[in-house]
Amino acid sequence: MESGKLLKTKIRVGDNVVVISGASAGKRGKVLAINKEKGRVVVEGVNKRDKYLRPSQANPQGGKVNIEFPIHISNVMYFCDRCKKGTRIGIQVKDNNKTRVCKGCGKSIDK
Ligand SMILES: [Zn+2]
Repeated sequence: MESGKLLKTKIRVGDNVVVISGASAGKRGKVLAINKEKGRVVVEGVNKRDKYLRPSQANPQGGKVNIEFPIHISNVMYFCDRCKKGTRIGIQVKDNNKTRVCKGCGKSIDK
């Protein structure tokens, strides 16, 4: 990917999202991290795999941890609990404040 080109997304850390394609399709979870350079997100409970750790001083045997691996952001949508489905996020400007709203029902996402 070209350097300096950051992904444009309205999804933020802490949002509830639903996976719309790939092996985890249909799963829902909270966004734990967003990597805008790589266009990837880490979603709680989604795409969990074992990660093998190299032996270190603290852990001479090495080992493994079961953690969430990033998935491509195009595979997730914001999950609106009022629409009960993945929806697009719109921006509403009110008194010079930008807030995110669900494009399906108009519900404000940012409290
Ligand atoms: Zn909605």
